[in-house]
Amino acid sequence: MTSQTEIMAKDAAEGALDDLIIGLVGRGIQRSRTPRMHMQEAAAQGQRLIYQLLDVDQFPGGDRPLAQIIDAAEICGFAGLNITFPYKIDVIPLLDELSDNAKAIGAVNTVVFKDGRRIGHNTDKVGFEEGFRQNMPGAALGHVLQIGAGGAGVAVAHAFASLGVKRLTIADSDHARADALQAQIAGVGGDIVVDVADLDEMLALQPDGVVNATPVGMAKLPGTAYPVSQLRPEMWVADIVYFPLETELLAAARAKGCRVLPGSGMAVYQAVRAFELFTGRRPDADRMKATFEAMTS
Ligand code: NAD
Repeated sequence: MTSQTEIMAKDAAEGALDDLIIGLVGRGIQRSRTPRMHMQEAAAQGQRLIYQLLDVDQFPGGDRPLAQIIDAAEICGFAGLNITFPYKIDVIPLLDELSDNAKAIGAVNTVVFKDGRRIGHNTDKVGFEEGFRQNMPGAALGHVLQIGAGGAGVAVAHAFASLGVKRLTIADSDHARADALQAQIAGVGGDIVVDVADLDEMLALQPDGVVNATPVGMAKLPGTAYPVSQLRPEMWVADIVYFPLETELLAAARAKGCRVLPGSGMAVYQAVRAFELFTGRRPDADRMKATFEAMTS
């Protein structure tokens, strides 16, 4: 029988990549497409990667404190974790270090365990930004209306600042959230002008593009946060909801002749960047996108 030491010596001699365990911590994550994107990309690169769902809603015996979940993953030798709703902010005090992006955004969706340290990153921002760059080249960025200033909306607004939007108007049914995000983005510097509109005021605007960063449009929350009667064919419309990919808003925008961007862009490119952080290797973004799309069909 071959011992584990012999197997490891053989792997090392052949230059085999270390096996990795990654996890996703969140609630209601059973249908996440992220595990398969990571596992298939690693396999294509010749690495064994196990991606474990740590779904707090499914723990035997009920909820566990987040600190206990992070400790357990670190002790069990996980290389890293993705963090999703509702823990992206709560995880911050449990970490040793934050990347510049995570610090600026104030939320973490990726944790890397390295040399006894826990380093927090935010790949949602770069995910939205890269998805937008890839799929909406030439889109007018003079005035963007963003509806939703929650966990994901914060990353989206930072992405628009990096993309060079001139004026960003933020609307949220929770005014305090819209105000907080306005202050945060205004503090980023640069030429961007950020203002806040309430839900009535936003109807009077004629932006170049609108993005839905609310959960409205999800299968479990049908409808649209932006009245479809306001759509004009020359507008572009983005949605970050991706269950379903074709939300009511995107379907109406498409019918009107608008350019549209579904939530898949952000979902794929946040995973692309996280893969790089977990493994130290560059993934094939098109291959990860194809894996994501294969799950749609
Ligand atoms: P959240 O609950 O943190 O924030 C949602 C915000 O929308 C809240 O501030 C809320 O007040 C506001 N809102 C809700 N209904 C509204 C309405 N009708 N009009 C105006 N404002 C309204 O949620 P989140 O974590 O930001 O997630 C939002 C959506 O984005 C979810 O559907 C989530 O699945 C999706 N998401 C997608 C990706 C991706 O990669 N594509 C990543 C993260 C989240």
